[in-house]
Amino acid sequence: MDETYRAYQAGASIVHLHARDPKTGKSVANNVLFKEYYDKIREKCDIIVNITTGGGREVPLEKLDDVIHERIKLKPDMDSLNMGSVNVWFTPINDDVFINSTARVERWAKWMLEEGVKPELEIYDTGMINIAATMIERGAIKEPAHYQFVMIGKTGISPTVKNLAYLAEEIPKNATWSVCAIGRYEMPMAAVAIPMGGHVRVGFEDNIYLSRGVLAKSNAELVGKVVRLAKELGRDIATPEEARKILNIPPRR
Ligand code: ZN
Repeated sequence: MDETYRAYQAGASIVHLHARDPKTGKSVANNVLFKEYYDKIREKCDIIVNITTGGGREVPLEKLDDVIHERIKLKPDMDSLNMGSVNVWFTPINDDVFINSTARVERWAKWMLEEGVKPELEIYDTGMINIAATMIERGAIKEPAHYQFVMIGKTGISPTVKNLAYLAEEIPKNATWSVCAIGRYEMPMAAVAIPMGGHVRVGFEDNIYLSRGVLAKSNAELVGKVVRLAKELGRDIATPEEARKILNIPPRR
């Protein structure tokens, strides 16, 4: 939790949380751990907590809904919500698919709605914006919505200026958005999003380098870099309290 606190001190207003087993270091579908980490963060600071529903799926598919429902019931400020399925890129290539059927997306969106958790709509490709629009129409997602453009390349949308401009154009006018690009595109896409009025996500899930060939020492170091960029470009850094207003998230419970 020290890592979250350091990132908060560096200027982060939201933490996106996965859980790793402290012994093995492996990502786990352990909601007890998620709760423990969540509570510890809460003790330390008022940062907005966004818990993953994309990671921590290490359970048989038939048990996945129950595990995620229980996790949503922890009532963090936000949960990530992956807006569609995407092929998984491995070398050598394999048959893996990150499955997010429309029925599942809708079920999870409704649970988030019931628990008062703001979904972070993760968009890996342009068609997923259409799925989000349908979910809004069907009442599973409440507006104003918050979109995260996950520019993964390879099996999803490529991290280019043109694509980011297109994505920002395609979402509802009352929406907020953020970008996270993978690897060496993380900082360049953040630098493009800042003057566009978007928000940014940086951190070890997406990129571990501070600059070419230089490993970042911490998530906080990456946050520090993006804070400097924003300041140079004339954008203020939102406190968690201000970010709650921007994202329509009620004060912390
Ligand atoms: Zn994640």
